[in-house]
Amino acid sequence: MKQRLFNLIPPLTVAAVLLFWANAPKAWIDAEWTLLVVIFAVLGFVQLLEYFAERHEGWRLDKTEFFTDLFYVALGTTAISWLTETLADTPVLAAKTALGIATPWITELPFLVQAAMVLLLFESGQYWMHRLMHNHSWFWAAHAPHHHITQLNAMKGYVGNPIELFLISLGVVALFDWDKEALFAAISVGSTVAIYAHANVRADPPIWYSFFFTTIRNHSLHHTALSYEDTRCNYGNSLILLDRIFGTYKEGESTVVGQDERKRLSIPEQWAFPFQPMLDRIKARRTASTPTASGPGPA
Ligand SMILES: [Zn+2]
Ligand SMILES: [Zn+2]
Repeated sequence: MKQRLFNLIPPLTVAAVLLFWANAPKAWIDAEWTLLVVIFAVLGFVQLLEYFAERHEGWRLDKTEFFTDLFYVALGTTAISWLTETLADTPVLAAKTALGIATPWITELPFLVQAAMVLLLFESGQYWMHRLMHNHSWFWAAHAPHHHITQLNAMKGYVGNPIELFLISLGVVALFDWDKEALFAAISVGSTVAIYAHANVRADPPIWYSFFFTTIRNHSLHHTALSYEDTRCNYGNSLILLDRIFGTYKEGESTVVGQDERKRLSIPEQWAFPFQPMLDRIKARRTASTPTASGPGPA
């Protein structure tokens, strides 16, 4: 009974986030920091749950894991979000104005309908980008550092190579005229679900939630250490519904997560990862041209 109630915590958090945006005063909706405060509040809350109701002892945070994760949350909410705004959203908005695209009918729609549309639109982009990353070697090289994490925790969704973090944040949401509260509600709900989908929390939400939203069960399977091939399922960052629709859904859970003999990468290794083959080639060439005692060369 107690566990069944506990399983409701992720859906209740999503409901609380929606209620917040539906009722937030206009000044809060217009303030730039409100969205960040909501996401940090959810992160803090889920980390408390990890502390009091952990799913696996082997996923418990130590100092290195905690500070690495914190670094990526800071990176994601500053540099990466600035890059997305500057290199993607601003040009999309400029194109929208230049082409005279206007969608005033959207603000006539109810709050929940708008929020659902934003989430579906954004998540569809994420789904196909994520699937591409598991199907193309160059994209995989950028995404692989996210799969080299050897444990799952609330902030782990933010961990990855910066190229991947930028690519996965791209979308066409800026082409439409949404009510701000619906747009922020969708971003907050997507983040909340993704935070729970990476969190070491012993909550398994009921099917009326897990049919639509990604849970730790299905996302841990996506992170399985079994083989690269076995990770090619459950791509939906927050909408597992897309995997059900496009045939990539797989039922199950994995406790052992990671890639390539479960080697944990440091931050410099995560950043260098896509360029590693190139760096290795340069190193090999240098070693080959360096004269050695036994090899040819001036004495
Ligand atoms: Zn993946
Ligand atoms: Zn993940």
